[in-house]
This record gives sequence, C-alpha cells and structure tokens, in this order.
Amino acid sequence: MELDTIAAISTPMGEGAIAIVRLSGDHAFDIADKVFKGMKGQSIHEVPSHTIHYGHIQEPETGQVVEEVMVSIMRGPKTFTREDIVEINCHGGLVSVNKVLQLVLRNGARLAEPGEFTKRAFLNGRIDLSQAEAVMDLIRAKTDRAMNVALNQMEGRLSNLIRRLRQEILEVLAHVEVNIDYPEYDDVEEMTHGMLLDKSTYVRNEIQNLLRTSEQGKILREGLSTVIIGRPNVGKSSLLNSLVHENKAIVTDIPGTTRDVIEEYVNVRGVPLRLVDTAGIRETEDIVERIGVERSRQVLKEADLILLVLNHADELTHEDIQLFQAVKGMDVIVIINKTDLAKKIDLEKVYQVADEHKIVATSLLEEQGIDELEEAISSLFFEGSIESGDMTYVSNSRHIALLHQALQAIEEAIQGVEMGTPIDIVQIDLTRSWELLGEIIGDSVHESLIDQLFSQFCLGK
Ligand code: GDP
Ligand code: ZN
Repeated sequence: MELDTIAAISTPMGEGAIAIVRLSGDHAFDIADKVFKGMKGQSIHEVPSHTIHYGHIQEPETGQVVEEVMVSIMRGPKTFTREDIVEINCHGGLVSVNKVLQLVLRNGARLAEPGEFTKRAFLNGRIDLSQAEAVMDLIRAKTDRAMNVALNQMEGRLSNLIRRLRQEILEVLAHVEVNIDYPEYDDVEEMTHGMLLDKSTYVRNEIQNLLRTSEQGKILREGLSTVIIGRPNVGKSSLLNSLVHENKAIVTDIPGTTRDVIEEYVNVRGVPLRLVDTAGIRETEDIVERIGVERSRQVLKEADLILLVLNHADELTHEDIQLFQAVKGMDVIVIINKTDLAKKIDLEKVYQVADEHKIVATSLLEEQGIDELEEAISSLFFEGSIESGDMTYVSNSRHIALLHQALQAIEEAIQGVEMGTPIDIVQIDLTRSWELLGEIIGDSVHESLIDQLFSQFCLGK
C-alpha cells in the first residue's frame, strides 16, 4: 500500500518550549534531506535508525536558515505508524515551527488530517481500532485513573479479551458446520448441543461482566456528573470554590458537549467530578431561576452525584425537604455547613429525611470537614473494587453499544438452542455476535466509521 507522506505539528499549539513537526510516509526521509543540513553532508537514508541529529532547517533554494533543530530519524516498520518517521524538534515559538511545517509542505509532504498518524498506525496494522480509540481517550484523559484505563486498553487488554471471545464463538460455529454437514451422526448433534450451550453461556457471562464495568469506565472517562443544590446562602458557591481550590482543576475540551450548561472538572481522590451548572450557581444562586424548571429537572436527573447543602445555623425548612424529595433514590451526600455558627438545625429531623444518605458536617469558612467530604465522595464510587488492577474496563460508548448488541445476539442463540430451534438459525445469531464483537476491534468496520473516528483526534496525533 503506497500512502503519501504526511506532516503536522504534533505538540500542543502555543508557546511551548519545544515544538515538533512530525513527518510520516515513504518520502519522509527524502523531504527531510531536502530541508535539513547537519551530519556533515550525510543523507538521512544513510544514518542508523532511531538516532537524533543536530543541525539546521534551510530553504533548499536559497540556503537561508529557518530554524536550529534536533531531528529524530526512525525507520519503519519499528515506528508508531510503521512508516518512516522524521521528527523535527524546533525550540523557537509558534512562528518558527510553522515556518518549518510550511517548508516541508512545499517540499512534498501533505498536511495531516486530525488523527491521521494514528489512522496510519491502524491502517498499517500496528494497532487495532480499540487501541486507536484508546489513544484518543488518553489525549483527553482527565485523571490518573482514567489514564490507566486508557493505557490498559491501548496495551490491548480489551482487544485480547474480545479476540478470545470471538475465538470461542468461532469454535462453536465450526461444530455447527460439522453438524450441518453430517446430520446423520446423532452423537455429533448431542455434543454440538451441549457445547453450544456451554460456550455461548460462557461468552454471554463474559460480555455481561464487561458491561458491568462500563458504568465505572464511563465515569472515569467523562467525569461524575455532580450537582450542588441547596437554598440560597447555605454555602453552595463556597463548597464549589473549596472543591475547585483544594483539588487540581482539570482543564478539558470535550468536543460535542453542549455548552448551555457550564461545567468545571475537579479530581477528588481519583474521582473526576464534573461539577454541573456551577456558573448558574455562582451567578444567580439559583439553578432553577437560571435555566428554568424543566432544564434543571433534567440536569438533576442526569446527575450521578448530588451534594445537598443545609445550613447548620438555620432551621430545616420546607424548601430543604422539597430538595430531598427531588433527589430521592439518587446518590446524595448531605452537607451540613456553617458548623462554626450556633446550631439551629434539628439534627434528628435531618437524619430522618436524609434516610440512608451519608451526612458530612462542614465549616467551609474555617475549612473544616472538607477531607471527610472528599472521603465520602471517593468511597461512594470506588469502594475498593475499582482499584484492582487486573480488571478490564470498557468505557467507550461505541464499545458499550456494540457489546449490548452482541449480548443480545448471543442470548438469542442460547434461547434458540434451549427451544430446539434448527441449528442453522442459531448459527445466524452466533455469526452476528461474532461480527459485532469484531467491530469493537475494527475487524469488520465500515470505511466511513473509520474516517469519522479518526477525525475526532487532535491534529498531529
Ligand atoms: P450559596 O448562596 O449557597 O452559594 O452560599 P455562598 O457560598 O454564596 O455563601 C453565603 C454566605 O455564607 C457567604 O457570605 C459565605 O462566606 C458564608 N459561608 C459559607 N460557608 C460558611 C461557613 O461554613 N460558615 C460561615 N460562618 N459562613 C459561611
Ligand atoms: Zn453563592
């Protein structure tokens, strides 16, 4: 397969200390030879692979120096894309790195599309689709834990499991074939029936286990949608501020999220919190007032976690009770704030309405109780189980959707066997689940899907 040579700036835009222009393709070395002078006149084709060289980028026609650089040379196939790769490390700012990029583009390279380097890695068989998607997740990973999930996936954990399941299904299908070809052997049919049930049930259970991890996987990827509610003046803004200031605020840029609801991300002991509607709370003190009753109901409904703030120095009001009712059945942590002030609240009543929800006392003014609150948040969602390192998580919504469909197909196959459905009908369901699982790792994906996936990548990755 002959692919043209692509180039892009592969470090974040802005005034970084180093910026890298990356070239990948059959003519990467030729193009670099034209614009790079160093190595005492030696051609890049002649130097050992995976070496780095000092020199200058020059206009080939005029010899004018554009930038002082270090150039890394990596010969395919032992590279990220499996193609020849040249990385030009520039140390100037944005202007000079752009000049270098323009120069290589004028000398035979084409500007890479977003995600095209990773797409090449996929097309050249270096990584499978779920690994490619993991690269994308990694770029966006918001906490260390999310990073680990992405890393595991990139290392092929999910892919390996999916391959194993597909292999199981394939073995069943092979037996089914034998059964169809030699229907006269009764014992073959007996065996087929038994093994069909065994293996299909095994595959079904594995898919179910994987799907069970998806809830937490999704939280790790997208953040725990968290809403702070409470009457005016109880300390919602103060709570938000202390969460944001105590914890590293996470900068994010998730494409496709609607911006009518403003969000802030913080990392609380490995739990990425997506604090929803914080702007509303900040500006008008009242989420309902700002975005309307319907919208706020929706926000509440979609929340994974509610932080319900009460005032220690005030009586429990009808409004407070209404808030409790609005979040019935959800994961709620009750915060009794302003413990530095004289108690007016009836704690017995609070315990009663709070039901089984965790209650934490704070004085945000005096920075008391924040540790306990963070502990409550992390134990609510991690309970230890998510720590175990050897689990495979699914967190990508495309994977989750495919797993659900594959599960349904395999369940139909199992039902078919149990009801004595003709085996060639069962075969259809099995084949479908095999194909659906294959789509997760990109073994049977449609071309346009591939393009769409890779276009989500950052430029230069
Ligand atoms: P919100 O209306 O719920 O967002 O409440 P704010 O966070 O804006 O706080 C309202 C007022 O209560 C502000 O003057 C805060 O400084 C004050 N406040 C917040 N937390 C505490 C606390 O723990 N103790 C005391 N004494 N005052 C607090
Ligand atoms: Zn406020």
